[in-house]
Parts: sequence; structure tokens; C-alpha cells
Amino acid sequence: MEKEKIEQIRAEFPILTEQIYKKQLIYFDNGATTQKPRCVVEKINSAYYHLNANIHRGVHYLSQKATEAHEAARQSVAEFLKADKREEIIFTRGTTEAINLVAFSFGEAFAKPGAEVIVSVMEHHSNIVPWQMLCQRKGMTLRVIPMNEKGELQMDKFAELLNEKTCIVSVSHVSNVLGTVNPVKEIIKLAHDQNIPVLVDGAQAVPHIPVDVVELDADFYVFSGHKIYGPTGIGVLYGKEKWLNAIPPYQGGGEMIATVTFEKTTYNELPFKFEAGTPDYIGSTALAEALRYVQEIGLNEIAAYEHELTEYATQRLLEIENMRIIGTASNKSSVVSFLVGNIHPYDIGMLLDKMGIAVRTGHHCAQPLIDSLHIPGTVRASFAFYNTKEEIDTFIEALKKVVGMLS
Ligand code: PLP
Repeated sequence: MEKEKIEQIRAEFPILTEQIYKKQLIYFDNGATTQKPRCVVEKINSAYYHLNANIHRGVHYLSQKATEAHEAARQSVAEFLKADKREEIIFTRGTTEAINLVAFSFGEAFAKPGAEVIVSVMEHHSNIVPWQMLCQRKGMTLRVIPMNEKGELQMDKFAELLNEKTCIVSVSHVSNVLGTVNPVKEIIKLAHDQNIPVLVDGAQAVPHIPVDVVELDADFYVFSGHKIYGPTGIGVLYGKEKWLNAIPPYQGGGEMIATVTFEKTTYNELPFKFEAGTPDYIGSTALAEALRYVQEIGLNEIAAYEHELTEYATQRLLEIENMRIIGTASNKSSVVSFLVGNIHPYDIGMLLDKMGIAVRTGHHCAQPLIDSLHIPGTVRASFAFYNTKEEIDTFIEALKKVVGMLS
């Protein structure tokens, strides 16, 4: 992307001009959450000012307009993921809730004692714990795909794990620690050869690479709005219609019902069967605006520019003595995790913060991965399309100072 375009983009994110401890903020914690462009914040404001009424059950004008906006947002998400039908898009609170929904509802319908669930060693806790809870409830076993020293999944080992006991596979599209882009299409193909469905955790993928759920043939695909420039509290579960029809509701309440008597309740059709209670219709509308915004910039342009930033940051980090990059997969997205000598990542993060630079340190909610690497955690810089090479230069100079102070 050209400099002028990046400057125009940065002007849309007022927070990027903030000062922290009298230093210009450099925000490299985009893997945790992204900043919001004006259009998204304005959408939230205008929705509350002009479009606020509870949806789906009002005959009045405002309720109908709010309902239209919410359902138009569902259509936008379907188009964004290239899903066949808008009914296959369920709004959730985020990735975590979407995975819990599938682990519970799919588990109720299809899990049996003795069965197995496959995840990978590099999963976020939200793609481990719901499956562990399912395994505990149903007397099942969790199996784990290992990785090689570069942080790439070992596909031969994965093929060996698949068997007639496997009831579902759940893997991240992109690792939030290593940045590895996993070969999810190949994973899905191998699982489907044995009629095993696959959930893909797209939390770290959708902000950075174009996703086509039909082309991937994913059975379930999930992501969070706040990681793709949208608001917090809204996320998405895509599920193939045949699966969503075959599994029971996750929560009971208003909206998800067709009829209720004290004797018996019948459930609403898709997608409402999975959306109990008042949905976050303001959040869905703002998420649709965020998706419109990234599509206007173009996901291919975003992917190319962020790749350039990640490569540049990696090269510059390697100038530092005793630098250890954690995760060197050949296909990486915009995350660089590292350690320097024996310095604790927390100390690096604290001192960088005092220089205005926001990075994340620790286990990044992927403790089993960090344990498997026998490290205390990492420092993680994660980039967005509003970041620049100049910011990376400032970060490297600051990091050199920090390392000098701590060595
Ligand atoms: N999965 C991955 C790969 C993530 O990086 C994250 C968040 O960092 C999550 C799941 C959980 O997302 P959320 O907290 O928005 O539900």
C-alpha cells in the first residue's frame, strides 16, 4: 500500500494520534483487539440515536427498521464469508461463545462415550477448554495434533490421529502466538474423507486473509467482531445448514422458540433457533460496517501490506543479539513472537509500554503451546494495516534500548 493511502487510513483511527506517557502511541497489540475506524464508531452512535428498538417482534416503524438493519448485517457477514445462505450465519458474543455453542450443541447430538475430539497443539484456550468440558461430560478423549520446530502442524501425525472414533476436528486457521497459517483446506479434506466434520477458529484469520467457507468446505467457521475493527460483544458462527438443523439449541429463551406451552416447546427456524434473547443488533450493524470498511480497502491489499510489515519486522528483530523468533512457519500472518536471551518477556513488555509501545507478553491464552516449547511466554507484536515501517523502526530502536537496560 502506498504511503499516502496509509496516512488516509490512519486518519480514520483517532486513537492512533494519542500519546501514552507523553510518547506517541504505537499499537502492536492487534491480535488481542483492533482499533476502530470512525465509520464503525459513528455507526454505533447513529444506530442508538436513530434506529434503536428491539427487533423481530415489533410492528412499529423503529422495530422494523432495526430488524432490517440486523438482518442486512447477517447478509453482509454471509457475503463476507462467501456462505451460501444467510441462515447459516449465527450471531454470538464472539469466537469463544461460538465454539462453546458448537461444543455443547454438536456434543449433545453426536458425542458418545469413547469418542475423540482432535485439536492442535497451538490452539487458544477457547478452542481447548470447551472441548475438554465436552470430553468430561461425555467420557471422551481429546487428541492433539503436534507441530514441527518451525511451528507448522505435522500433517502425517494428523492423518494418523483420524479414526472411526473421531467425532469432530477443531483447529485454528491462524495461530495467535506463532502466526502460522494452518493448511485448513487440507485438514478439512482429510477429515471429510472419513466423514468427520471440522470447525475452523478464524479469529486471527478473517482480519488478515480473504476467507471462503464454501471453498474451504468448513462445517463450522467462527470469528470475533472486535478483532476485525468491529465492536466488542459480537461475533459469528457460520455453520453448514445441515449441521445447524441437526443439532439442538444452545440456550433457551425468547426469539429461539416457535411455540411454548408448559408441556412442550418447539424451536424457531434457522438462524433464530441459536439466538436466544435480545441479540446485539447495534453490534451486528456496526460489525457489518467494519466488514464494509475492510472490503473497501481490500483484503488482498491488506494481506500483501501486512505480509510486508511482518517480514520487515522479522528482519529488523534479527539485528538484535540473542533474538529468538518463536514461530518461523513458511506461511505466516501478521504476528511476530520473540524472546531475547534470558530476559523475561514481561520485563520487555513493561519497558516498551513506558516508551509508548503496546505489545502483548505472556502465554497469549495458549498455555499448552507455551509449555510445549519450554519457554516462559513470548513478547508478541501483531500488526494491522494502519501500522507502518516507521513505527517498526521506532519499536526496534526502543527494543534495543530495553535489551541494553535488561542485559
Ligand atoms: N481464538 C483465537 C485464535 C484467538 O486469538 C482468540 C483471541 O485472542 C480467540 C479464539 C478468542 O476470541 P474472543 O476472546 O474474542 O472470543
